[in-house]
Amino acid sequence: MNAAFPPYQQVIDNVASQAAPMIDPFGRAVSYLRVSVTDRCDFRCTYCMAENMQFLPRKDLLTLEELERVCSVFIDKGVRKIRLTGGEPLVRKNVMVLVRQLGKRIGSGLDELTITTNGSQLARHADELYDCGVRRINVSLDTLDPDKFTKITRWGDLGKVMEGIDCALRAGIHVKLNAVALKDFNDVEIPDLLRFAHSRGMDLTLIETMPMGEIDEDRTNRYLPLSRLRADVEKDFTLTDIGHRTGGPARYVRVEETGGRLGFITPMTHNFCESCNRVRLTCTGTLYMCLGQNDAADLRAALRASPDDGILSAAIDEAIFRKPKGHDFVIDRTGRPAVARHMSVTGG
Ligand code: SAM
Ligand code: SF4
Repeated sequence: MNAAFPPYQQVIDNVASQAAPMIDPFGRAVSYLRVSVTDRCDFRCTYCMAENMQFLPRKDLLTLEELERVCSVFIDKGVRKIRLTGGEPLVRKNVMVLVRQLGKRIGSGLDELTITTNGSQLARHADELYDCGVRRINVSLDTLDPDKFTKITRWGDLGKVMEGIDCALRAGIHVKLNAVALKDFNDVEIPDLLRFAHSRGMDLTLIETMPMGEIDEDRTNRYLPLSRLRADVEKDFTLTDIGHRTGGPARYVRVEETGGRLGFITPMTHNFCESCNRVRLTCTGTLYMCLGQNDAADLRAALRASPDDGILSAAIDEAIFRKPKGHDFVIDRTGRPAVARHMSVTGG
């Protein structure tokens, strides 16, 4: 049987066990929770972090059991998809305990459990991820050049990431590659990244760099609108717009020469907030209702206020009721980030 499709009875049971979705003030159903299980990372990508990062205090972290409890309440309230992210999710100690527990909810409220990873630890976790029910993952890969890879990630090793990707594919996990488009860095490499991804059956998604958190360089020098990049790619490839959606903000084209898909995530040039279905939980239990706004709710206090889930559930309802209409990112010449927190706090 194709592992991507659960058995028929399981689908029926899951539909029966699904709660009605939470609806925000703008009529959008909130069915997707992204969880940053740690804001720490074994890389220091230049567009994401400063080299000398200040991380959230360890004493403020939710335990894995607490993270699972919050996720469970979200599932009971209609969340159907959970993505574990970070920081680097696979560097959190014993994170597979959480993956295994959440995996048990697949088919019992949850449609999909997935992760976004830099791939550095994937080789040793790929088989277990599959065993826990993870069938699709995103791996971030901005370049295929080992020297450039070290330059952009500061601490990363391309060989380990490639090994991780191979292990994930061998385990039967669908891999999508994500690349942040960076002017004068990987803009000339997109055709190679595309050929690499499609030759292995992986989709590739390009992301515009967003002004989040202080970093050691000026983002204006690196920002590249994807419309320009698409025009460049069209010199080598025939791109056909398609309606393919993965429940996220990416818009896809089919690349006729390879038969693979290329996605564009354009938070800067095209606002996609009208179809936003997600909220983001940090590893300290703060819920952000929008990636590009500061509106937040302290779910840790609600969680610890009572062993019963009633207070937590009410705090989630109150937060969803405050979900903002959207973000309004601008990369301006002041060099100041639009949002002070780094992407690693909410996981993108
Ligand atoms: N460490 C994991 C990884 O790199 O895949 C997960 C967390 S990372 C914050 C999630 C995604 O956000 C990655 O694809 C990364 O490239 C992207 N990202 C980080 N900072 C960004 C920024 N300022 N603008 C756009 N994308 C960013
Ligand atoms: Fe780490 Fe991911 Fe940020 Fe790179 S993008 S520093 S891998 S959290």
